[in-house]
Amino acid sequence: MRTRQQNVTAAQWSVNGGAMGTTDLTEPGANVYGSSVFTVAEQRQRLPKHVFKQLQATLDAGEPLNASIADAVAQAMREWAMEKGATHYTHWFQPLTGLTAEKHDSFYNPTGDGFAIAEFSGKELIQGEPDASSFPTGGIRATFEARGYTAWDPSSPAFILDNPNGAVLCIPTAFVSWTGEALDHKIPLLRSMDALSRSAVRALRLFGDEEAQRIFTTVGPEQEYFLIDEQYYFERPDLYTTGRTLFGAKPPRGHELDEHYFGSIPERVLACMLEAERELQTLGVPVKTRHNEVAPAQYELAPIYENSNIGSDHQQLTMQVLQNVARRYGLVCLLHEKPFAGVNGSGKHNNWSMGTDTGHNLLEPGDTPDENAQFMFFCAAVIKAVNKHQQLLRASVANVGQDHRLGANEAPPAIISIFLGQELENAFTKVATGKGRRTKKGLLGLGAEALPHLPLHGGDRNRTSPFAFTGNKFEFRALGSSMSLGFVNTVLNTIVAESIDELCASLEKQLKAAKGDLGAAVSAVVKDVWEGNKQIVFNGDGYSTSWHKEAEKRGLANLPTTPDALPWLVEKQTIKAFENYKVLSERELESRFEVFVEQYSTKLNIEGETAASIARTMILPAALRQAELLDDAGESAGIERLKEELSGLTDELVEGIFELEKANRDHPAEEGLELAKYMRDAVIPAMDRVRDAADQLERIVADDLWPLPKYSEMLFIK
Ligand code: ADP
Ligand code: MG
Repeated sequence: MRTRQQNVTAAQWSVNGGAMGTTDLTEPGANVYGSSVFTVAEQRQRLPKHVFKQLQATLDAGEPLNASIADAVAQAMREWAMEKGATHYTHWFQPLTGLTAEKHDSFYNPTGDGFAIAEFSGKELIQGEPDASSFPTGGIRATFEARGYTAWDPSSPAFILDNPNGAVLCIPTAFVSWTGEALDHKIPLLRSMDALSRSAVRALRLFGDEEAQRIFTTVGPEQEYFLIDEQYYFERPDLYTTGRTLFGAKPPRGHELDEHYFGSIPERVLACMLEAERELQTLGVPVKTRHNEVAPAQYELAPIYENSNIGSDHQQLTMQVLQNVARRYGLVCLLHEKPFAGVNGSGKHNNWSMGTDTGHNLLEPGDTPDENAQFMFFCAAVIKAVNKHQQLLRASVANVGQDHRLGANEAPPAIISIFLGQELENAFTKVATGKGRRTKKGLLGLGAEALPHLPLHGGDRNRTSPFAFTGNKFEFRALGSSMSLGFVNTVLNTIVAESIDELCASLEKQLKAAKGDLGAAVSAVVKDVWEGNKQIVFNGDGYSTSWHKEAEKRGLANLPTTPDALPWLVEKQTIKAFENYKVLSERELESRFEVFVEQYSTKLNIEGETAASIARTMILPAALRQAELLDDAGESAGIERLKEELSGLTDELVEGIFELEKANRDHPAEEGLELAKYMRDAVIPAMDRVRDAADQLERIVADDLWPLPKYSEMLFIK
């Protein structure tokens, strides 16, 4: 009866004092958006005029801050934060773990006479020195020189994180080694945005745009996640140590009924979402969309897009807030890529585009052929970049959780391809077959008068493609739900910067050849790109097995696992692009390779040990108790049959446990990629074997003897 009662308790929830009630949005001041952010408006109000102007000017130009105004900014920031109840500040940064890190310092300094005064200097704002020796650096920082600095990023606004017992001023910062190497995901992202801006401005000048000074890449992430009752979570050592279930038979009911997707959101879940969204709004995160996802207990949240740097910071906050707020509703938010085997996993869609400081989206096809030509040029640059660096893109979304998800009939395969949609593909084909010309009206034409309106929405959107053009942006859909956006967007920006530059060089040549006829020159460039890269374009079903064969014929890379993909981080052509554009040096790339490989092995090691321990100390005893039950049941042909069935599976479980324990012990002497491959080839199969026997046992052992909450409980009781 224990389980049944537990389910009843799990199903109960209350707003536990945290209810927000309904806000009267007609009240002045009731709009909470950005109220915990040191916004530009707040800065304008609080900073001396000349300081504010200087700060904005440096930000607009993307230049480093003049240290002389830092003290004034720090003082205003501290006063604002203290009015909001903050007692501490922290440099908030994003080490290579993919998580955020904080070290809190009090604003108060003792004066020696028993009092303390509040202080926060420009120096403390601009630079911090966390004791950073425990963050992964991939060999960049030997421990004897274990210095890392955090440096204020004034382009991402400071904010306040509330806690029931106080508040903390968080200052977004970059994290560097004392030798100047990037130890985080923010620095390379900022560098890549600069690189792309330079290339794109160069291109725009060729198209006669003299106005745009700066191009920003934009990101709009769609975040998938699960919410399950915390009671189940804490009863499962696999969930709370690894983030996913290592055992669990597939429930009789999955998402086949399809009633969950876009169905009404359960009240408790909606209450949780509302509070999380409200908190995100106070933090200035422009959350916009929410809905149920395909799997039971799975949901999605999406903000309005922002510039990549701020969008990435906001994504980290979103994951943190979702996890914090869920607990207030007795729920736990799972961000793992594949928390439940056999049930759809969670991804993150990275909507990506490039916009000018004059407000123009470079991937917006526009209404006239003039705009189309420029659009086709930038679109061609993306196609070329993705084709050339397909393996690197695959590597940028590789992690241990993703290996269960990519290609698992619910997520794009491990093969990178681009979905353009029929209209756009037709447009490229038209240009490539030489129909590019000037139109009668003297407009810059590429064969088509103007592109047909490209669908932004609708059924023809291909959900199976890892990289899809969706009307005015590309949507990189292969990211894992737990991932930081930083590295992926760094890769995207860098390879597109390189590609735009290459296309600019061709365009300059073609312009000479065509005596300045821009239409003819662009046609020639686009044709060239299309012919050399069209094999990466695929509009069909990415989940089908025939695509795997077809992709192989086309020479596209298929890198199914993380150890297959990660070496591309340090391939020659990757290093060349990243060094050329000063985004990451070879050493910095190597450090990322090392860190990501190590994370893979470490996480698998934890999974292996956890699986062995659960199997031996929880599942095996349950099987043995079931055997006792059968022994007590007397003798009959039926009982004999049950005993045989049980002992067969128990033996299989025991064999599996011994194999797994051995695999956990016998690591190769070599670390790095060798170890990662060993984990993949020895530990995963051993875990699978144990799991297979355990999941079969789950179906025959008495329910009250089974030690772990089951899939149907975790997914359906809410
Ligand atoms: P979906 O149907 O996939 O949910 P939406 O139109 O809702 O598509 O957009 C999904 C995400 O794409 C949102 O976060 C949205 O803000 C973002 N997005 C829209 N335009 C851009 C852009 N120019 N750059 C980056 N992201 C964008
Ligand atoms: Mg989408």
